[in-house]
Amino acid sequence: MVKCPICEKDKLIEVNDIVSEIEGHFFVVNGKRCQSCGEEFVAEKEGQKMVEIARNLGIWGEPLKLHRKLSQSARGTVIRIPTDIEKNMKLKGNEEVLISKIGKNKLLIEIVS
Ligand SMILES: [Zn+2]
Repeated sequence: MVKCPICEKDKLIEVNDIVSEIEGHFFVVNGKRCQSCGEEFVAEKEGQKMVEIARNLGIWGEPLKLHRKLSQSARGTVIRIPTDIEKNMKLKGNEEVLISKIGKNKLLIEIVS
């Protein structure tokens, strides 16, 4: 069984009722939920599907927005860049970035190299 990266308990169960939001539209997707802390994890495949549906509906405009949960690694807080954005920006994963805080709850990530 997979451990929950948030509370590190073996309580992740498969669920099919995770509600995700893109641009004010709600999607119900498959994924895993931690029975201990309630954290939800959307499967990568489901995330992609959601993006495709959003595109078909014409609600996937610029700027690209995707809900992602931060996670913890031994070295700090980690955010995964959605594959879609990665492809769109042709990111290799070794770029240097500038991170600035904008207002109370926004982060701006600029690719430098
Ligand atoms: Zn948990």
